[in-house]
This record gives sequence, structure tokens and C-alpha cells, in this order.
Amino acid sequence: MFTCPNCQGKEIGKIGTTQYYCWNCFIELSIADDLISVHQVEEDGSLSSLDDLFEEDERKLS
Ligand SMILES: [Zn+2]
Repeated sequence: MFTCPNCQGKEIGKIGTTQYYCWNCFIELSIADDLISVHQVEEDGSLSSLDDLFEEDERKLS
């Protein structure tokens, strides 16, 4: 298991095959090619990418 790139928390729940949810900071994480993509769930249920806030090596699975 990995830690959340946003809060470094370990309370990550699996919500799909490659999708996870951080219960600490309420962001959705998805994994592709060992890279974590970070999304915020908006009030209307849509997702907006937060990847720009992180360096690529912060998003790599260690
Ligand atoms: Zn988090």
C-alpha cells in the first residue's frame, strides 16, 4: 500500500480496480503505470485533477 501524496496519510481505501480514496483529506487517487493521479471530487460529483500540485516523483509508487 502507498501513502497519500497530499497528506502522507495511510488511510487509503480501495474504491475500484485502480482507484483509491484518501479518508484523511478526501481526495481520489488512481494508479496507472506506477504513477498516482490525484483528483478532487467536486460538489456536483465531477473530478478535477490535482496532478499539477505535485512533482512527478511525489506521485510515483515507491
Ligand atoms: Zn490524503
